[in-house]
Amino acid sequence: MDYNKLYINGEWVDGASGKWIEVENPYTMEKFARVPRGNAEDVDKAAKAAKAAFPAWSSKTLDERIALMENFLSAFRSYEDELVDMISKELGAPKAFARTSHCEYQYTRVRSYIDLAPSVPMIEKMEQSTTYRFPVGVIGCITPWNYPLGQVIQKVVPALLMGNTVVLKPSQQTPLTSYILADCFEKAGFPAGVFNFVTGRGGEVGNALSTHPDVDMVSFTGSTKGGVEVSRQALGTVKHISLELGGKSPCVLLPSDDYEQAIRACFNTILLNSGQTCTALSRILVPSKDKEAIEQLMKDIVKEYVAGDPSDPSVKLGPVASRAQFDKIKSYIERGLAEGARLLAGSVPCEPEHGYFIDPVIFTDVDNGMDIAQEEIFGPVLCVIGYDDIDEAVRIANDVKYGLNAAVWGPKDDAINVALRIESGNVYINDGPRDTAAPFGGWKQSGIGREGGVYGMIEFTQQKALFDTGH
Ligand code: NAP
Repeated sequence: MDYNKLYINGEWVDGASGKWIEVENPYTMEKFARVPRGNAEDVDKAAKAAKAAFPAWSSKTLDERIALMENFLSAFRSYEDELVDMISKELGAPKAFARTSHCEYQYTRVRSYIDLAPSVPMIEKMEQSTTYRFPVGVIGCITPWNYPLGQVIQKVVPALLMGNTVVLKPSQQTPLTSYILADCFEKAGFPAGVFNFVTGRGGEVGNALSTHPDVDMVSFTGSTKGGVEVSRQALGTVKHISLELGGKSPCVLLPSDDYEQAIRACFNTILLNSGQTCTALSRILVPSKDKEAIEQLMKDIVKEYVAGDPSDPSVKLGPVASRAQFDKIKSYIERGLAEGARLLAGSVPCEPEHGYFIDPVIFTDVDNGMDIAQEEIFGPVLCVIGYDDIDEAVRIANDVKYGLNAAVWGPKDDAINVALRIESGNVYINDGPRDTAAPFGGWKQSGIGREGGVYGMIEFTQQKALFDTGH
């Protein structure tokens, strides 16, 4: 794999700027690789290549595109060890978690897209018309660092299956995983220009993609701030826009005799991946009458989540992803203390010497109006908030600008009733499993559009209605 190149029009080529971005391992704190700092010239080449490849690619049958995607999936699987190693190095994720959640789960996603592609309703007969779906064209995919593999798969695979061509810009912080994916697309036999890949900064490559006249759609995953900025730029040429943004998701515990399973499930979202998960349940809403008992349980269970060497198979938490992330999380812990929240676990982290480690932090006595309850910290920091009745729990759950994810634990019918009142795109009921076929996406400032399954593929199509019932 040559990390010194970009992948444009089926070839590994030099970046135009001659400049580089260094990639740091957040555990060793060493800069261990560098990639080209792409610029507008590279994006222009990639967008033109994608536009040129579009007519032939979109004319292929779905079966032909699926056959190539099957090749891709085989190549992708064959790289598992390299991918696990790379995700661990560039993100700091523990290898065991990198294998299951970062890597293997993506095979399930690709499989799901392939299997569901034939059921996307490409032609729909209405009373006086017929509606046809077409690919949108050239898709600019802009992805974050927290799941460097999954976020790319969620966009590129459905976009290509629906007949679009792609220019991918991964996060400058974790670009190396995408080199392996680019290699897989090449090995799979995708025609030149169908998949293109330009590394670089959001302000340069991302900006150039959002404004390029040959890019028909921007599919963005990242912060709400970044999504707003990209959308502003993309509207200049009236692009399709799909946004998967941040969250501040609630986990509502209904009154129960046993809270242990719910606490463990909540911890797995807010602590694993060091809390750097968009769907992390970062606010746990508990019945006030049981708050003390729940807090004691949390104090016991959190001891199982020890941060350490990501290559140690027993380690659940690695370092957070970067110095910037470390500083941001640390400042929120300080802010939480200043706001009057009480620490149940964890502390203000010391200056990092070997890895950007932050041990799990649990704040209790949190008022939902505090910054630590309103803003996405994106670290292993959980807020415990008491409620007196269900109406209050629902009000607190919804009292944030975000609406990405939620969970409700309790008797199933009661939990569903509460879930239906929560303003978010997804709600987990008790230990309900993740379903790759379900639409995933946010309400409110958590996003526009959906990923996953048939809805995730429809996102990369546009409709044409034929009024065809006359003579
Ligand atoms: P980010 O700073 O918004 O960056 C995301 C991507 O956008 C990166 O590739 C970034 O480039 C680029 N970018 C940033 N500003 C841009 C601009 N003005 N113009 C064009 N491109 C721009 O987000 P992040 O810190 O990487 O990721 C964490 C965020 O992603 C969290 O808020 C998390 O909740 C969210 N997220 C959401 C989902 C979801 O499905 N809803 C999934 C995962 C993550 P650089 O390389 O320069 O950073």
